[in-house]
Order: sequence, then C-alpha cells, then structure tokens
Amino acid sequence: MTRTLLRGFDLVATMDDERREIEAGYVLVEGNRIVALGKDPTGNTYDEVIEGKGKVLLPGLVNTHHHLYQTLFRNVPDAADKKLFHWLIFLYERWKGIDNEAVRTSAAIGCSELLLSGATTTSDHFYLFPRGVPRIFDAEVEGGLLSGIRFHPTRGSMSLSKKDGGLPPDSVVQTEEEILADCQRVLERYHDPSPFAMLRVALAPCSPFSVTSELMRETTKLADEYGVLLHTHLAETADEDAFCLEKFGARPVDYMEDLGWLRNDVWFAHLVHLNDSDIDKLSRAKVGMSHCPSSNMTLGSGIAPVVPLKKTGVTVSLGVDGSASNDTSNMIREVRQTMLLQRVRYGADALTAREALYLATMGGARVLHREGEIGSIEVGKAADLIAFDLSGIEFAGAHADPLAALVHCGADRVDLAIVNGELRVRDGRLVDESLYRLIPLHNAISRRLIAGR
Ligand SMILES: [Zn+2]
Repeated sequence: MTRTLLRGFDLVATMDDERREIEAGYVLVEGNRIVALGKDPTGNTYDEVIEGKGKVLLPGLVNTHHHLYQTLFRNVPDAADKKLFHWLIFLYERWKGIDNEAVRTSAAIGCSELLLSGATTTSDHFYLFPRGVPRIFDAEVEGGLLSGIRFHPTRGSMSLSKKDGGLPPDSVVQTEEEILADCQRVLERYHDPSPFAMLRVALAPCSPFSVTSELMRETTKLADEYGVLLHTHLAETADEDAFCLEKFGARPVDYMEDLGWLRNDVWFAHLVHLNDSDIDKLSRAKVGMSHCPSSNMTLGSGIAPVVPLKKTGVTVSLGVDGSASNDTSNMIREVRQTMLLQRVRYGADALTAREALYLATMGGARVLHREGEIGSIEVGKAADLIAFDLSGIEFAGAHADPLAALVHCGADRVDLAIVNGELRVRDGRLVDESLYRLIPLHNAISRRLIAGR
C-alpha cells in the first residue's frame, strides 16, 4: 500500500470535534486512508513525501448543491439580470438542447473547477431529461468520475411542463412511469453503499413547482427501498411561496410536511424564505440544508437564515449551485460569501471564518451522511485533503491567523488536492492534463447551445 507523508505544514486544520489545529503538523496517508497525524512523524519508509512549508492543510471541502451541466451556460447575457422564474423560463429554451456529449463534458469541466477550488466531494442535481436522449444521467456519471472527485450525483426529475402550469417546456419533462423506472435503473447500476465509495446516488425531484405531489411521494418510497438520500430545491424565492399557496394551498415547508418530505435523510437547497414555524419544523425533522449564497445573491433571492438555523437541529452545508446562477463553481469562494452575507444580515460577529469553513467540511459530510468517512482530518477517515499556499500576494501580511486568512483574504485556488489517496491537483494544476484539453470542446458546445442550434 502506498504511504504518503505530508509534512511541515504551517498549520493542519483538522475540523474534528475539538477543531484541533496543529502547527508544523503532518498527516500520513496509507492507500486511501489517513493513518496518523500530529507534530512529529515517526518512521521513514514513505513512497512519497510532500513538503508543506508556507501552506495550510485542511480536509477536502464538500459541495452539496450543483447543476454541472449549467457550466455550459455561464454568464448568458439575457439571463444574467433576471429573477428565478424569468431566468428559468428563458434558459429552459437553451438547456433543452443538451445531449450526452454536452453533459459528460460539462460534468468533467465543472468537477475539475471544483477540485481546483478545494472540493473533493461534490453532489450534483441533474433534472433535465430531453426526449430522444437516452442514458443522459450515465453521461453525467462518466464525466464526473473522469475528474477523480468523490461524486454524489442525484437523479432529478420534472413531470409538470408548461401545459400543466409548470415552467419547463414539454420536451424536457418525463412521465412519472419513465422517471421512476429510470431512477430505479440508475440506483441499481451506480449507487455504491460501501464504505469510502467514490459514487453514491440520491433521488431529487427538481422542485415543488416542477413535479406532482404523487411523484414526490413515490420518490420517497423508492429512496426507502434502496436506502438512499433525497434532495430538492425549497423556499428559494418569494415567488415560490405564492406559487405553492396558489397551487397546493400551502407554503413550501408545510407542503413538504404534507408529502412526508421532512425527514433526516432529506437535504434541501436554499431555504431562504422561512418563518419561525418553518424553522421549527425543519429543525425537528433534522433535515440537511445546502446554503448557496452566490446563487441567492445573483438571482436576488434573499439571505438565508443560516445563523439561526445553525443553532437548531438542521445541518447546514454549502453549495455553489449551478453555474448559470453562480457563474463559477468555486467552493472556497463560497465559504467567504457565506461569512460575508450572514454578516450583512446578522452583524459582524454572526459567523466566523472557522465556522464557515466548518459548514463546508463537516457540515457537508453530515448532510451527505458520510460524517464517519470524510469532512475532517482524523485517523481512519478517507485521505481527502487540500492545501493552500500562503506565499501569494493576496496573503501578504496575513500571517497572524493563516486559517482565517483563507476566508478573509479570499483564497481562490488550492495548491494541492488529494481525493481518496490520489493526487488530483499539484502546484495549483490538475494532475490529469487531459481535463484541460476539454475546454475548447466545452466552449464549442456552449456556443452551439446558447445560439439555440
Ligand atoms: Zn439549484
């Protein structure tokens, strides 16, 4: 088994229960696991030694909400300044042209960008299934795995199109029979429940306004049968409140309660528009949350109540959300956005840099029910590690607290990323150079789709 010693780091920030921070620390990796950490390594038989002077070592970040295919639709001029529902209606007309090559390529590109920005695990919410494009979810899995990231794709679904009062065009929604049959197929084919799995699948109807209540209920039954997690968007905008009241006679959280969706194996993206009763219900159910500040700011959706939610039974994690509403897939930047945006609403002492980093590491691990395997640097956990180099100009003068400096000074890119014991980023570059060669193809596909060809 390969033994890799990472030594001499200015700081090893473990994010364990005691939040230990070890100065001049080391971590020893054997195969895909962490086998030792501390101040002075013993023994000298290593296959590789990685020096950490001037660097901070952390557990890999966990991104819990994304739509990787939207990497093809960044910064689309006519969508860039619109609110969610108008933004969706405009983009659906471009999104409906995606095919397997588009989905595979954008998944590889999006996951590579995540790796470079510190995420070693990512979820993805894939919900667009254009008619006549079979096995498109399979293309997404293929693209994600190509990057080497630990991957949690979710099989999304939409069954309400324009003709039923929904937002998407008819050509990208499926019947409920088609959806449930394909959910079952992908769970059997791809979901790996084994410890340290690199691929796990969850089920994720797109949102309360794009599927029927029947499908929401059936999806929970299927998730129970296969022991997998459930995910969806919830309470993202004020328009959604109005839509749910009109269509279902209930606000979003109450509607989820009716559907049996307030459970510990569910995580919701956004949760921006909540009242006290919503927070109480979500807390009692111990649901997970993916907070996506850049997306919420871009679409002008509002500021999610992360600070009060964090004090309840809700587990908070962070997500970059799709690149059409964030325009980046940069995980460490999302940590800074979280800290800053919560301070706008709750004051300067509302959320520290360390607390924001904790949401992006152990918070994500807990939301994906993998707290025993990832999210902190501890003996026996997976070797999912990242390091930032503090010698750059953006950190000059920030030596007093190197860990907080990552957030306060705006770290942007890792120096090193290891996933499941494999080196994926070294000296700030992806180790697999072939991933860079996908950029021209990705750009060509994007041009074609945005032009509507
Ligand atoms: Zn989303």
